[in-house]
Amino acid sequence: MEHLKRLFDINPWKLATNELHSNDIRLQESLTSTGNGYMGMRGNFEEGFSGDNHQGTYIAGVWYPDKTRVGWWKNGYPDYFGKVINAINFIAMDIYINNEKIDLATQKVTNFYQELDMKHGLLARHFTIDVQGTVVKFSFERFLSITTKELGVINMKAEILKGSGEIKVVSKLDNSVHNEDSNYDEMFWEERSVGENFVTTRTIPNNFGIEQFTITALMENTATGNFTSTKETASFLASENFIFTVNAGEAIELTKKVIIVTSRDIEETTQLEEARKLMNSVNETSIEEQKTAHMKAWENRWEIADVVIEGDDEAQQGIRFNLFQLFSTYYGEDERLNIGPKGFTGEKYGGATYWDTEAYAVPLYLALADPSVTKNLLKYRHNQLPEAHHNARQQGLKGALYPMVTFTGVECHNEWEITFEEIHRNGSIAYAIYNYTNYTGDTTYIENEGLEVLTAISRFWADRVHYSKRNAKYMMHGVTGPNEYENNVNNNWYTNYIAVWVLKYTLENYAKYKENATVSISDEEIKHWEDIIANMYLPEDKELGVFVQHDTFLDKDLMPVVDLDAKDVPLNQNWSWDKILRSCFIKQADVLQGVYYFNDEFTMEEKRKNFEFYEPMTVHESSLSPCIHSILVAELGMEEKAVEMYQRTARLDLDNYNNDTEDGLHITSMTGSWLAIVQGFAQMKTYKEKLSFAPFLPTKWSKYAFRINYRGRLLHVLIDLNVTITLLSGEPMTLEVYGESHNLTDTLVVSAQ
Ligand code: BGC
Repeated sequence: MEHLKRLFDINPWKLATNELHSNDIRLQESLTSTGNGYMGMRGNFEEGFSGDNHQGTYIAGVWYPDKTRVGWWKNGYPDYFGKVINAINFIAMDIYINNEKIDLATQKVTNFYQELDMKHGLLARHFTIDVQGTVVKFSFERFLSITTKELGVINMKAEILKGSGEIKVVSKLDNSVHNEDSNYDEMFWEERSVGENFVTTRTIPNNFGIEQFTITALMENTATGNFTSTKETASFLASENFIFTVNAGEAIELTKKVIIVTSRDIEETTQLEEARKLMNSVNETSIEEQKTAHMKAWENRWEIADVVIEGDDEAQQGIRFNLFQLFSTYYGEDERLNIGPKGFTGEKYGGATYWDTEAYAVPLYLALADPSVTKNLLKYRHNQLPEAHHNARQQGLKGALYPMVTFTGVECHNEWEITFEEIHRNGSIAYAIYNYTNYTGDTTYIENEGLEVLTAISRFWADRVHYSKRNAKYMMHGVTGPNEYENNVNNNWYTNYIAVWVLKYTLENYAKYKENATVSISDEEIKHWEDIIANMYLPEDKELGVFVQHDTFLDKDLMPVVDLDAKDVPLNQNWSWDKILRSCFIKQADVLQGVYYFNDEFTMEEKRKNFEFYEPMTVHESSLSPCIHSILVAELGMEEKAVEMYQRTARLDLDNYNNDTEDGLHITSMTGSWLAIVQGFAQMKTYKEKLSFAPFLPTKWSKYAFRINYRGRLLHVLIDLNVTITLLSGEPMTLEVYGESHNLTDTLVVSAQ
């Protein structure tokens, strides 16, 4: 049923392969993506590849509003779909041996090896090629520095094993790049200026009032060997051509340093000058020193975030790969940025920000980074409150509607069922405020900005519900729940539940902080909200003991996924959309998303019944799905299922479970493997400001360990035959293990159950 395809060997710290997967180059490129939060790229080959592939470099926060393409326009549709745009290819080094161009798509190579070193953030590759008797071993290594964000370094070495002649290397900055997903096949760049070693380009004008971004790429090449070099420029292109004269037994080397600056930080007029200054300061240290600093910085990240799993190298590789790619996308350094579902690894999904951030990434960053990182993510939404008001107005509603997909806060998703209907996203924005406040104990955000956001979201819900006189209940019709395999449903339990929760949470906090609040909620509004809270319709089937996904869900032809013909899955690649929408099959946690969020509000029996009812109908065709199920089923003690779901989350891309990793990695769902281990296997909970654990050790594992930040402390949690919790730094505290309260002053050891 699953589309497993594993290109890289199992190794705890690396992705390595001896094979050039010519028929799966896109997949290979996605998996070997690298990034430094500021920019990133797919694992493209420096020398190019003429076969099917996807050359992609992306720069954080640089995007283009591509005019929406729909046949039948409806009022309220966003005007454009914001796209992460493919930017300058700066790794390019065309290589010729005795005038024959090296191209792994057409030539046979031996001794191929590619390696992504996750511990140090390095991508390397080598191969040997025989061009009419001249045999050369090429080795490449590159990194995007996490200590100097604007810097990329590409190193090429060639050892001449046999023969002699000429090796030509054309080191390029090439901005003639297109987005694969552009609506009108436009090129999104216009040239500003090109010099011997730099290219300045700007995004083309748009009609939507969105700023044009300018970027400057500056390169410096250093070669060793017997060579001559010339520089050339052309449209969108700066290149430096090296001609090496080589003989057997010799080696040549070319190191390319590239600085990328953008108008997000530096205006166009001074970009070149600033890029040169940066290059000069980079040149104050050797490339080896730059590389060592970068590697050390990665090691420091792992020092806090690493999860160690013993006894299961597949699981170990999975979690490290996910954390590596997640931190390559976002490490919380720039409050203007967010976490796109594909990060720097592809174009699908466009947009920079989805509800994925609040729902899936916030809990991880709370535990693995300084609280300021999560606060930045919250502030990002607060800064976009005016745009969220705009989105609600577009739908003729009061309050604020946060977007499903955005760069600026303005909704840019252009499918009506998402834009108009998938409004549950608003709930997650509020939930993240709760998460931050409850986890950190810091109330400064909620007292000010947070309360503004909560109030605006509450006003939206209060306007979006309607009162059914017949049932004397408030209802919400025409929504899409997290399960996007159904649209326009009435009374999606999850949406109704979270709407009521937001209203309650807002009122609770308004009561606490209204004295100094910047918002004011009238008595009349409060009464109305209280009425909604008391009388919201929440569909439930007492006989089955389940919360009902929406009004007519139980009338569907209900059947488990195991009864599907294997050739039909994944459904989204085999069934018509119509058939999917009418089916009972669930894309991702829907009712169970609510059970996960508000876990402490349900009994074990309620959790079990809902899980056992919905999971068998769930196809997990969203990468966000398995982790929630893993967490819930772990709590229910169904260990095998929890591990299976973990595996699916952790190795979703590495094993290409959903058969779509060639489009890019599922960055936001990468948090899922960490959530599954920490919130699932270790059952870490933080409800009501109390930290608790109830871990189990998967049978195949001999131990696992992780660290978390919690209220100014750093804790190390190790699970083997015991649960050993060590207070690495910070004040002693009280916590619960298996329901028993303990004082943690130094190291606490409890037998594992
Ligand atoms: C999921 C959404 C998610 C989006 C981006 C979709 O497939 O159904 O919940 O926000 O992907 O990750």
